[in-house]
Amino acid sequence: MSVVKLTDRIKVMERKPMTFMEKIYIPAILKGMSITISHLFKKKATISYPEEQRPMSEVFRGLHILKRDEKGAERCTACGLCALACPAEAISMTASERKRGEEGLYREEKYASVYEINMLRCIFCGLCEEACPKAAIFLQNDKMAPASYEREDFIYGKDRLVEPFLQAKA
Ligand code: SF4
Ligand code: SF4
Repeated sequence: MSVVKLTDRIKVMERKPMTFMEKIYIPAILKGMSITISHLFKKKATISYPEEQRPMSEVFRGLHILKRDEKGAERCTACGLCALACPAEAISMTASERKRGEEGLYREEKYASVYEINMLRCIFCGLCEEACPKAAIFLQNDKMAPASYEREDFIYGKDRLVEPFLQAKA
């Protein structure tokens, strides 16, 4: 049967017979092992997370923090702009009126008595931080929401979002 050539670019390869060294396989095995052993002494590309942590980038957007002012009062005035800006609808809050004697706790007359972020919805875009007129919410560049098996653990309330008082005074 005649073979019809479609192009002239056919290259016929010759199967070369194996040399003696190729037939005994030992040089090939040694070569492979030397490559494997050489990788033992190279710098590891992986780390043992979470025991070891990589340094975060300056611009990393991690876990949120609700800031206090220099006197320790909560900055957030429950204006809702962060929730409005959030594309994932991850923020919810309840506004309350500050009572007499609470001036040291809340900077403005209105404050968030409840403030929650659903970290399962959050895409860490940082738009809440940009929308805030009171410099009250920031995304930290050295912390991220830890993993958990429970969905409830990802609803972050004020107990986990508000900056610790001593940290604000430092
Ligand atoms: S970082 Fe983005 S997605 Fe997350 S709460 Fe803020 S605005 Fe919403
Ligand atoms: S964090 Fe900022 S934008 Fe969000 S409710 Fe508080 S003051 Fe308004």
